[in-house]
Formats: sequence, structure tokens, C-alpha cells
Amino acid sequence: MNGQKCLAILRDIKSVAFATVDEAGLPAVRMIDIMLAEQDRLYFCTARGKDFYRQLLRGGYVAITGLNREYQMVRLVGKARPLLERRRWIDRIFDENPSMHGVYPGDSRYILEPFCIDNGQLEFFDLGKSPVVRKYFTLGGQAEKPTGFEIKNSCVGCGTCRKSCPQQCIDSGVPFRIRQENCLHCGLCFENCPAGAIVKRGEAA
Ligand code: SF4
Ligand code: SF4
Repeated sequence: MNGQKCLAILRDIKSVAFATVDEAGLPAVRMIDIMLAEQDRLYFCTARGKDFYRQLLRGGYVAITGLNREYQMVRLVGKARPLLERRRWIDRIFDENPSMHGVYPGDSRYILEPFCIDNGQLEFFDLGKSPVVRKYFTLGGQAEKPTGFEIKNSCVGCGTCRKSCPQQCIDSGVPFRIRQENCLHCGLCFENCPAGAIVKRGEAA
């Protein structure tokens, strides 16, 4: 798995959930088609009359997620940017997605504006595997944001976390160690550690 394959999964799912924040600071979500995925970029479009369009122009931040039939979920948080050469991109999108002709026939297609996302953090989460598989990738050289939990040196080796982990993804050692790629992020280990040795990644002192 890599970032390009994650984008290809979103393109295969095609209609995925796009979340933004509206003018009042409230969450807004809708289904949007991924029109192209190539060279570490996702492409989509929306009509100038839509609230979604205004939200994209105001901040551009989007969170996208989709789940395929194999229970593989991909999530992307990044910033969408409007594309120059608008007509050329809309024509390309219609060539690659012929069903768009039925929705926007003839020149009505040019009410659409093309966008691309070429930066942000991708998460791949495979719920069809046991244990689960979780991986992170970044686009556009963005630094990876740590998530989940980690075990600090104050671990006393009691083994409580290992016994309580539903995915059996904690290995013995000094200190014990969480296999990040198999972790559910459920927090059971964190709640049960008698030494307070398990911390949220990114919040560690
Ligand atoms: S429960 Fe806490 S102290 Fe015990 S092994 Fe796990 S991390 Fe270490
Ligand atoms: S967060 Fe849940 S799945 Fe991950 S290591 Fe802790 S108990 Fe296991």
C-alpha cells in the first residue's frame, strides 16, 4: 500500500463523503465523485452555485472518506485548490467520466469548477483483515500527524494492556510496545494501564 494506491481506492469507490465547515462553523458533508486520481493528486468538481463551492473558496480544507466492498477505508484530510485552465480540466473530467454528460449536457458543464487536492494526510484502514491494518501516508511533503497511543518508559511490564487488547497488537518488552499498524485506537490499554505509561501520541509530555 502507498499513497497513490489509497487515491486509486477513492477513485474506484468514486462517490465518497466530502466534509467541510460552513459559514457558521458547523460541519457539512455531501457525496462527491472523485473524477481522476493521478500523480499523487485527486481531482473533483462542483458547481459555482453550491454552498460547497463557497466553502472550498473560503478555506479549502476538506476531509474525505470512502469504504470499498473489501472493508478497506481511505481517509484524506487536505486542502483543495481551484485549477487554472478550467475549461480544459472540465473537458478532461467529462472525457474520463462519460455519465457526467447526462447530468450537465452541452455547455452547461461550464458551470462546474475543477479542483485538485495534492497535499494532506492519508489514512488506510483495512477492517477486512485480522488483525486490522492501518497505515498513514502524506501528500505534498506534509509532515505526518501522529495518532493512536504509545507506551512510555514508565511501563512496569505488568502485561495488563496486552491481555486487554482486542487486536492482540501489544508486544512484550521493556517497555511493552504497540504495533501501530494493527491498532484500533480503541483506548482500552490506555484506560487499564496501572502505571499511566500509555499516552495519546501527539499529546505525550
Ligand atoms: S499495562 Fe502499562 S505498565 Fe503494564 S505492561 Fe502495559 S504499558 Fe506496561
Ligand atoms: S488502543 Fe486498543 S487496539 Fe490499540 S493497542 Fe490499545 S487496546 Fe490494543
